[in-house]
Amino acid sequence: MTKDAVDICIIGSGAGGAPMALELGRAGFKVVVLEKGAHYKPKDFVHDEILNSRRNFFMPLPWEEPHLWRQGSSGRYERTNSAWTANCVGGGTVHMSGYFYRLKPVDFRLRSTLGEVKGANLADWPISYEEFAPFYDKAEAELGVSGEARPHPFAEPRSGPYPLPPLDVHPIAKEIDRVCGEMKWNSLTTARGIISKPYRGRSACSYCALCGSYGCEMGAKSGTNASVIPAALATGNVELRPKCMARSIEVDKEGRARSVVYLDADGVEQEQPAKVIVVSCTAVESARLLLNSTSSRFPKGLANGSGLVGRNLMFSSFGESRATFRISKQKASRPWLTAPDPFVNRSIQDFYLMPDERFGFRKGGTLGFMWTHPNPIFAAVGLAGSGKEGVFGKELKDRMRAYRDSRILQFEVYGEFLATPGTYVTVEPGVKDKYGIPVAAITMDRHPKDFAATRFLVERGEEVLARLDPDDIERVGVAGETTILQHGTCRFGKDPATSVLDKDCRAHEVPNLYVVDGSFMPSAGSVPSTLTIAANSFRVASQLVRKLKKG
Ligand SMILES: Cc1cc2nc3c(=O)[nH]c(=O)nc-3n(C[C@H](O)[C@H](O)[C@H](O)COP(=O)(O)OP(=O)(O)OC[C@H]3O[C@@H](n4cnc5c(N)ncnc54)[C@H](O)[C@@H]3O)c2cc1C
Ligand code: SF4
Repeated sequence: MTKDAVDICIIGSGAGGAPMALELGRAGFKVVVLEKGAHYKPKDFVHDEILNSRRNFFMPLPWEEPHLWRQGSSGRYERTNSAWTANCVGGGTVHMSGYFYRLKPVDFRLRSTLGEVKGANLADWPISYEEFAPFYDKAEAELGVSGEARPHPFAEPRSGPYPLPPLDVHPIAKEIDRVCGEMKWNSLTTARGIISKPYRGRSACSYCALCGSYGCEMGAKSGTNASVIPAALATGNVELRPKCMARSIEVDKEGRARSVVYLDADGVEQEQPAKVIVVSCTAVESARLLLNSTSSRFPKGLANGSGLVGRNLMFSSFGESRATFRISKQKASRPWLTAPDPFVNRSIQDFYLMPDERFGFRKGGTLGFMWTHPNPIFAAVGLAGSGKEGVFGKELKDRMRAYRDSRILQFEVYGEFLATPGTYVTVEPGVKDKYGIPVAAITMDRHPKDFAATRFLVERGEEVLARLDPDDIERVGVAGETTILQHGTCRFGKDPATSVLDKDCRAHEVPNLYVVDGSFMPSAGSVPSTLTIAANSFRVASQLVRKLKKG
């Protein structure tokens, strides 16, 4: 059935989609938001680890809605649920951990500042940090970010303090400050998308510890479900339609986007016409939707005359190590070790640029310190191992006993993930999801320079751990990527021959089509990107409101 036309139809209600809905609704435009997942309420966010880590409460099941994954173009595709974030109102912002960093001025000028890298598709952004910064301020205020700016060599300029003071932290944070001071490194307070005080009608964090991978029953985590979406609905101009899966975007004779065809909560096909269509389904899923939206005008997919939709996929380079403190051994000298405070909230960015040219490319990254996640299933899976490393019987029992007598501090490394010609998203017509729609297929071919930088950062993090004098340090990995941070599949840029979107995130080839998730980013940065996605969406919305008001 064809619905009445609206001004704007937005697909996806997460970090990218929700700010657009808020700003366009505030400006008086009629907006429909199509969201494939359910609209959970705070009471639905229970501390049930089976629900959160084993069911499809947030993430689709790989046998119902797989992603395909292969290593290199000659690899064999495997089905996986990697590269999904939560499918519900608020998207991945509902079960994120809320580590909220800004990019730095150098991230906007990576190619011109650090030079070309052979084998990588490095590009500058078409705008500067200075143009972008006001929208970081706006996103931090609208979502609710707690933090404390400390000066350091790579500190990005800010116009003022964070909207909320920093969260309380565990005493180990002071120890990290101390050992960093000894090494002349800067221990920074990690900003969080979590409110430390009541804010705009929301309750403050209760420090329940179950943040990442869980929803927040307090509404203190600054997912768009708790912040931007309620504000958007309060404008009276925004209609949210959960459990509505967009299948394709249709075009008119002139090649303008005309409508979104979707399956509603009953599986019935509907068509929503709109003057402007905004796509924000995550970088992988937005590429999939555009590639599946074929027509005689766009036979290779919508806005894909250049063949660039799905290209330049980037995740985030990832490394991790852990330090174990045996409580029974250490509690006399460190009685604070068992303090229940869940947050560490310390980061190091002294190596955001590498000290020298040793690795051929000078981009480094960020180290973020935290306690390991308290979910017992995550812990048990880690202790039991898998495949040849798997253990059971006495050895597993011993490991479990030791675990119960431990506090485990970890750090995560977020490093640059260079775009390469060999890392991209396509669709596989032969493999369909439960809706009968061809699924996204990911091909990976990492650039070797990413790994060198991640290893360097992991080694620096281990120096910090060693100075804390733990009983054991375990290196978890130096050559990984985290697929929950996604970017690049519809790059923005000035030149239609090398980018899909213009500087306002409007498709070069389709004048009323916008893409506002992490797809727009020509480089991924060396920090988690959700704050950047939300800030960009506020930026794009402000340009779009101006254009629409002018007519
Ligand atoms: C466990 C976890 C922890 C994380 N922690 C952090 C963190 O600490 N810091 C950080 O910066 N980032 C974190 N992230 C990443 C963060 O979730 C993403 O960066 C962010 O949500 C991406 O925003 P987005 O708008 O691209 O996608 P999302 O916020 O995921 O929104 C996309 C929405 O589109 C919907 N959708 C998809 N396809 C369709 C379709 N065809 N029709 C209708 N709707 C559709 C989805 O259901 C989803 O709701 C974390 C992610 C996970 C999974
Ligand atoms: S109450 Fe605080 S710690 Fe618990 S989920 Fe919410 S934001 Fe996270």
